[in-house]
Amino acid sequence: MSHQDPTIERYGFTAVPRDPDVLFKDHPTASGPHPRQDPFELADFPIPETPLAKAVHEFVQKELDPPTVAHSHRVFFFGLALVRTHFPTWRLDAETYYLTSLLHDLGLAARFLSSTKLSFEFRGAIVARDAVLQLGGDGDVADAACEAIVRHQDVFVKGGNITTLGQVLQLATILDNVGTLTSLLHPSFISAVTTAYPRKGWGEHFARAIETELALKPWCHSTTFEVPGWREGMPSRFAGLVRGNEAMRAYE
Ligand code: ZN
Repeated sequence: MSHQDPTIERYGFTAVPRDPDVLFKDHPTASGPHPRQDPFELADFPIPETPLAKAVHEFVQKELDPPTVAHSHRVFFFGLALVRTHFPTWRLDAETYYLTSLLHDLGLAARFLSSTKLSFEFRGAIVARDAVLQLGGDGDVADAACEAIVRHQDVFVKGGNITTLGQVLQLATILDNVGTLTSLLHPSFISAVTTAYPRKGWGEHFARAIETELALKPWCHSTTFEVPGWREGMPSRFAGLVRGNEAMRAYE
């Protein structure tokens, strides 16, 4: 695979640092006490209406509950806004990011979460890859989504790289779930996104999903968020962080 391969940039495979501390160090718009906040509107990020995008949307509406579908849409808008303001040179394909956003929590669907010993994001990434291929996406798009979904909770790795698609997915999901980096977006945009795709108690919903997975699979990848030496039956730090999301409290 040559670095001249145009699909590398188009589908968000361009390598960037994994650690946000590295990514945002001396950053022209994101570092310092007053990061740039652009007053976008939803209409600045039209939802792709390609046959693949529509098919994936239909698929997740059958598989996921409404709060998770709404969260997935917030992740789409927050991610694209972060890119447009703070990473304007990243040429992320909107369709690829849209279907990755929609599919990223597929593994939380009850029939996937409890029917496998795989951690939810790994199972979800595998099912998502198959779904994209079956619904007409090409192999690079399916791989891009799968790679990003596998790694979307890999947020404690300090070294190494990740795809731009994976980085945006990590930043946007953590922003919605835990409330970090909200200072990189304009409050009016956060308000517009959460009005169009309401949280309706998403924090509690997601915290319970984490606790369910920890109980079913005390080996799962989500335990990387827990205290060292965490064992089955101990309270979840991750669920506590999600329930303690002060930045999104007003929208719950
Ligand atoms: Zn999520």
